[in-house]
Amino acid sequence: MELPQVPSNDSSAADQQLNDPVARINVIVADITALDPEIGIDAIVNAANESLLGGGGVDGAIHRAAGPELLEHNRTLGGCPTGLAKRTPAFGLEKQGIRHILHTVGPVWSGTADTGVPGAPGDDTAKLGYTHEDNLLASCYTQVLALALEHNVRHLAIPAISTGVYRFPKPRAARIAFGHAHGHLLRSGLPQRITFVCFSDEDASNYHEAINTRGQWMMSRGRV
Ligand code: ADP
Repeated sequence: MELPQVPSNDSSAADQQLNDPVARINVIVADITALDPEIGIDAIVNAANESLLGGGGVDGAIHRAAGPELLEHNRTLGGCPTGLAKRTPAFGLEKQGIRHILHTVGPVWSGTADTGVPGAPGDDTAKLGYTHEDNLLASCYTQVLALALEHNVRHLAIPAISTGVYRFPKPRAARIAFGHAHGHLLRSGLPQRITFVCFSDEDASNYHEAINTRGQWMMSRGRV
């Protein structure tokens, strides 16, 4: 599947001058296993499952692109609990300039926020951190960003963890993803850039919405 790789959130010169983390965040529509090396991405995140032995979706695509060495390597890792992350070499993806794969296991969405329980928010009005899944997904981003820092990653590409087979509501997941990237970049010079790699324009629009409305939802809950 060939998708255009167009950076689509323009950051203003003023943002850059102020070193606003938003200026270091891109949203593109692409296959994360077929990124243009010119973009300079040196690490990608895999939305894995607890076995770390491959699966469907982005996990399957990454295993196919990295080749059987990745599977062989991962057999030695003993899996990874939900909400945590492990780093591996990129194997077959190294020829694209990728040095690391940061595997993280997102939560399966249980639908808790849609039960109609008083105070339980719907997807878009959700107070993030309301559900156990919110916290597990947040943990994935914290772990991945800590690993990226540890391994001196300059430009990290991250897919929309948990929003496929694991059914996490996409607008909500985009806020958690952006909020954590933003918080990390405020405190750290590495990665220099974070690119959210979406598989469709619709998915990308969730990130743009999260970024464009950050003044409302990030302030309303203090920190992400
Ligand atoms: P999960 O099990 O964590 O939900 P999935 O792989 O099913 O993981 O989906 C996570 C997200 O990755 C979804 O938004 C899906 O559309 C997207 N996706 C699937 N394949 C790719 C790919 N090759 N590149 C980028 N994103 C992908």
